[in-house]
Amino acid sequence: QTNFLSLSLQAKMSKPVQARRLEGIDKNIWVEFVKLAATYSTVNLGQGFPDFPPPDFLTEAAVRALSGENHMLHQYTRAFGHPPLVKVLAQFFGKLLGRDLDPMTDVMVTVGAYQALFCCFQAFIDEGDEVIIIEPFFDCYEPMVKMAGGLPVFVPLRPKAPKDGKLMSSADWQLDPAELASKFSEKTKAIVLNSPNNPLGKVFSRGELELIADLCVKHDTLCISDEVYEWLVYDGKEHVRIASLRGMWDRTLVIGSAGKTFSVTGWKVGWVVGPNRLLQHLRTVHQNSVYLCATVAQDAVAQGFQRELELYGKPESYFIQLPKELQQKRDWLVQSLDAVGMKPIIPEGTYFLVADISQFKSSVPDVPDSDEPYDSRFAKWMVKNKGLATIPLSGFYCEAHKNDYSHFIRFCFAKEEATLKAANDILQKWKQEKTSP
Ligand code: PMP
Repeated sequence: QTNFLSLSLQAKMSKPVQARRLEGIDKNIWVEFVKLAATYSTVNLGQGFPDFPPPDFLTEAAVRALSGENHMLHQYTRAFGHPPLVKVLAQFFGKLLGRDLDPMTDVMVTVGAYQALFCCFQAFIDEGDEVIIIEPFFDCYEPMVKMAGGLPVFVPLRPKAPKDGKLMSSADWQLDPAELASKFSEKTKAIVLNSPNNPLGKVFSRGELELIADLCVKHDTLCISDEVYEWLVYDGKEHVRIASLRGMWDRTLVIGSAGKTFSVTGWKVGWVVGPNRLLQHLRTVHQNSVYLCATVAQDAVAQGFQRELELYGKPESYFIQLPKELQQKRDWLVQSLDAVGMKPIIPEGTYFLVADISQFKSSVPDVPDSDEPYDSRFAKWMVKNKGLATIPLSGFYCEAHKNDYSHFIRFCFAKEEATLKAANDILQKWKQEKTSP
């Protein structure tokens, strides 16, 4: 027994265990807010995933893949992407980008868009390289840049209130061209673009993308283009692909996700499309980390894309039907929030809608001297006291800018009608409580 005790004492390490690259990136908004939602929420409009089923053609494809008809689908497949999937992705994106893509060299399959992003930062960012990130941003960009040794350089979209008292649109949040240009320097290795943007739902216009593209070309910068919401664009808006603009193919990594494309976020199938000159380095990272993704999931996604390739532009296409349905859900939530005085910013795309809670502030107990941004305290109070889970917008800003954008919260409207109705009931009841003496 004594021996065992002394051994276990010796076994306690005194060396620092944490790698330096993890310093300062251990806190994560999702860990905290997903736990709060699981503990308190009755209605969860927080994390971005649909609570409606994926399309039948996709679940049927998954059943076929699993059925054992081809039992080799239960084994490893090609490391850089299951051949049927890379082939159809090359065809599909080749058509969209107007170029011939080689499925073996110009496409790589990843464990969700998340791993695609991780591979990009690991493959291209060296110690001291600067990476421009447009705020508000999908929060993982910042720690991923830092883990690779890079320095994130932030540039915010600046909101301009519409003059006529109308509701704001995500299009009213724009880059200041001079401010953006001032962030580019010799040290800039890449810019991360996310259009349609999570959390605002902004769909960057052709003009805005041309501005970014011109700066990328001028400063010889890579563009990591996160386009996971590419099909979720509303009101007839166009999703312009920056890789299709002049001078951009050679320097752009186009990232997509089957999770968002086919409403199967749990499958974690994503991809990168780009020139071999860049993808060869992503393959090195992928080869030495994840190696390959689940074969059955890739096979089912390949079948889904095959169907969509045949139905491209037709009304039966899921890529036409899904945005139509989501646009209705968006409109519903916009109305519901506007009616209670949480001013919605109408999103042009994505699963998300950001609302201004300034008018609502009074009903939530204030905590003077707290460092925590107001929206974060508000969202926590709301889930605990009203059962409605959302995400504070300040979580999508760097530490230095969090308190400049601290009176907005993000709602996910990719939900069943019943879920949105339940959220509406909570808000209505709350409003009545607020107004009754
Ligand atoms: N990029 C953005 C902008 C996202 O919103 C998400 C998912 N929330 C991802 C990437 C990650 O996608 P996946 O689930 O395919 O890893």
